[in-house]
Amino acid sequence: MLLDSFGRVATDLRVSLTDRCNLRCTYCMPPEGLDWLPKPELLTADEIVRLVSIGVERLGITEVRYTGGEPLLRRELVDIVGRTTALHPRPQVSLTTNGIGLARLAAPLAEAGLDRVNVSLDTLDAEVFVRLAHRDRLPDVLEGLSAAAGAGLVPVKINSVLMRGINEHEAAPLLRFSLERGYELRFIEQMPLDAQHGWRRENMITADEILERLSAHFDLVADDPVERGSAPAELFLVDGGPARVGVIGSVTRPFCGACDRVRLTADGQIRNCLFATEESDLRTAMRSGATDEELAERWTAAVRRKRPGHGIDDPTFLQPARPMSAIGG
Ligand code: SAM
Ligand code: SF4
Repeated sequence: MLLDSFGRVATDLRVSLTDRCNLRCTYCMPPEGLDWLPKPELLTADEIVRLVSIGVERLGITEVRYTGGEPLLRRELVDIVGRTTALHPRPQVSLTTNGIGLARLAAPLAEAGLDRVNVSLDTLDAEVFVRLAHRDRLPDVLEGLSAAAGAGLVPVKINSVLMRGINEHEAAPLLRFSLERGYELRFIEQMPLDAQHGWRRENMITADEILERLSAHFDLVADDPVERGSAPAELFLVDGGPARVGVIGSVTRPFCGACDRVRLTADGQIRNCLFATEESDLRTAMRSGATDEELAERWTAAVRRKRPGHGIDDPTFLQPARPMSAIGG
């Protein structure tokens, strides 16, 4: 079991398959991109599946989410998903993606056993999309969303980040769009994880502000909090339900006390928190011949060192050296 010193148990593994991306969302990456990890440092598909197997079979991981960077850019994705859903006990397997390429891959991924998909969509306006993501790809994302629903990857979830002066006016239109199509929308507060270090608390659209904007158009009632468990989204019934909208107040309403996550980066480092400043190197250990048991021990030790919270409000807070795209959001 992956137990930390505050009694939390990690059961949800987020695996970054690549640090590369075909978008440049302002809250994540600079327009010119980043220095990508050199190929030899990336875990191979076999190495990923080996580490995920150790997590699932020895360490109590019950949910595996593939992310990145953009995971659809990883050529072996369908194979990796298929090998993950074949593990015993079978974990829940999901994907977080920007949706570009999902039109082609949704059906093969569903066939490989993928359970769920979260697609990031911050705007319905093609011009705003270009301002925000520096690429003209909105139609690809919308096609990807439809294909996911068509392939039975339901309910399709949408992640949205609102940015002041860019797409802050789109809270209600994004919810209306999602309600009409049966997608489950979640707003995420912008976190200080961009490579450019451009995050400013005073510019952040807070959970309170998002709820205020939505409440001007919809009747929102907090859903049963027990159901929330360790899931970070606070859920609200929209206009009497059953449709719901989620708000993830990572900064202003932190859920660190109930966190059940652990992360594996594309270059084989275990991170016990998005905001961790240290990592545990499983890749080097694995390539030096460590046994499954030794890797499991390293992993357990890394989780034991997890801090109680992200400390964004602490005056000594330091943004992690790696940006979101390299950590795996
Ligand atoms: N490329 C995929 C995508 O965009 O869905 C997967 C990786 S992305 C890093 C995962 C999620 O993190 C996305 O929903 C994205 O909106 C979110 N994200 C990225 N940077 C963020 C930030 N600084 N604050 C909050 N969420 C962020
Ligand atoms: Fe790419 Fe996702 Fe980061 Fe946007 S949020 S730049 S799609 S990794």
